[in-house]
Amino acid sequence: MYLRRFCFFLLMALLALSPASADESSPRLLLLLTIDQGRGDYLERFRPALTGGLSWLMDQGVVFTDAHHAHAHTVTAAGHAALSTGRHPAGSGMVGNNFYDRSEGRWVYSVEDLAFEVLMPEGADGSSPGRSPARLLATGLADWIQSDSPDSKVYSVGGKDRASILMGGKNADTAYWYDFPTGHWVTSNYYTSSYPAWVQNFQRERRVESYFGTTWSPLPVSETLLSRMEIDPASGSFSRAFGRASLYPNPRYYNAVFYSPFLETFLFDFAKRIVTEEALGTDDAIDVLALSFASVDTVGHGYGPNSRELLDTFLRLDRALGEFFRFLEKTIGLDRVVVSLSADHGVAPVPEYRASQGLSGARRSAADYVCVQRAGQAFEKTFGDDDWFVQPYHFNYETLGRRNLSRATVESALKAELARCPNIAQVWTRTEIEAAGASSRVDPQLELFVHSFHPERSPDLYVVEKEFLVGTLRGTTHGSPYEYDTHVLALVRWPGAQPRSVSERIHTVDLPVTLASLLGVTTPTDVDGVDRSKFIR
Ligand SMILES: [Zn+2]
Repeated sequence: MYLRRFCFFLLMALLALSPASADESSPRLLLLLTIDQGRGDYLERFRPALTGGLSWLMDQGVVFTDAHHAHAHTVTAAGHAALSTGRHPAGSGMVGNNFYDRSEGRWVYSVEDLAFEVLMPEGADGSSPGRSPARLLATGLADWIQSDSPDSKVYSVGGKDRASILMGGKNADTAYWYDFPTGHWVTSNYYTSSYPAWVQNFQRERRVESYFGTTWSPLPVSETLLSRMEIDPASGSFSRAFGRASLYPNPRYYNAVFYSPFLETFLFDFAKRIVTEEALGTDDAIDVLALSFASVDTVGHGYGPNSRELLDTFLRLDRALGEFFRFLEKTIGLDRVVVSLSADHGVAPVPEYRASQGLSGARRSAADYVCVQRAGQAFEKTFGDDDWFVQPYHFNYETLGRRNLSRATVESALKAELARCPNIAQVWTRTEIEAAGASSRVDPQLELFVHSFHPERSPDLYVVEKEFLVGTLRGTTHGSPYEYDTHVLALVRWPGAQPRSVSERIHTVDLPVTLASLLGVTTPTDVDGVDRSKFIR
């Protein structure tokens, strides 16, 4: 508690020394922060142990305690695109991290772009397929800002390429992401033909290697606090090395950094350099810096939302963010910085932890796999052996045409077979989703699927397993339409605005629309989000 007060005092003292005076306070920097897998309960649950940037944001900002994604397939690309474009996946086209594209006849990665290549850092061999926002079908907040204010600069950095690229919108100056094999921040020649000299210098510094030969152990937290924050008592202290026995940093080491909170320390090192080298926030055209933190997701998948590992990752992000805010206070002045913070999706609790609390929950079992296989067999028994699918849950329309069968007929037949499986709670078909899209009153879950659906990029059937059923062998995951996956943290810090907590339900697509409204930026007419600026003004 003492440390928390001290940090707060230090920040307040710095604020008093701010170079910019309060009366000329038009914002100069918009900081778009996204915590991958930042579930809706984390800020409040971990608040007793927060002393840094997240604590400061909670004290300074408007916190939305009931913010949800309004789409069903809750994954990274879909969530970041909603936060960037104010459109559901149906409009952004980001229906998944990967999706089968019927027009191309193949699975594609959401941000792959074979017309480009990743710019290899000096000394790295080989080539890597390019990345770009080409498959993003809508513009984002950063684009709207640039379109009203062409001098505005837009930079994005994230552990994951899709997070960074999608937050940067269609026309970012550069989006950077972490390259696991080399441990560098890289980009694609979609953005620039070569690295600026300062990036090359940064790459030569090899700051990522500073964790080599050290271990990750958790920051001290009292037993009382751990229990108050619902940290599993079985998840005790730990000490983890980065990578295996190696005499020098190798790809395995760089990969291990990606799966640790230290990815973010390294990210902030780079982000600070962007601020100074690209001269962000130095003139009246507001600049955008998007930072996407992947480690809460990578650690959350491995250990779950009630683990000491996840808590420690969150606390280290809080501390590193506080340090970054102190840097921004010195360079730009925090009274000129607008901050939004949200997340691309939540996460399911670990089933074993649920069980320890006497609550229901399970892992997908052999019986669940067999049940789906038998549904496929039963379908073939009814309709005969044929080339029915181009991909699982994507019918082969040529076969249907040759057999003179309507898509609705085979969809409902397969749905009936799948519905026999005890752990399948619901199956939605393309026919149902398309009909619901045209109707005004639909089942709330079906509406989430309408928002997740794109005709060229979505399957013909969506299978929804039971709540609290986790499909991984260990740890946990996300991607469902249930509240633990849709509920995310959300806050906006507008300099001078009254800090408050808003319990009214909002959607993540509202955030970019709200920020545009606050900034006086023109929003496209076809956004799905609603302007919530009345809570902030
Ligand atoms: Zn994830």
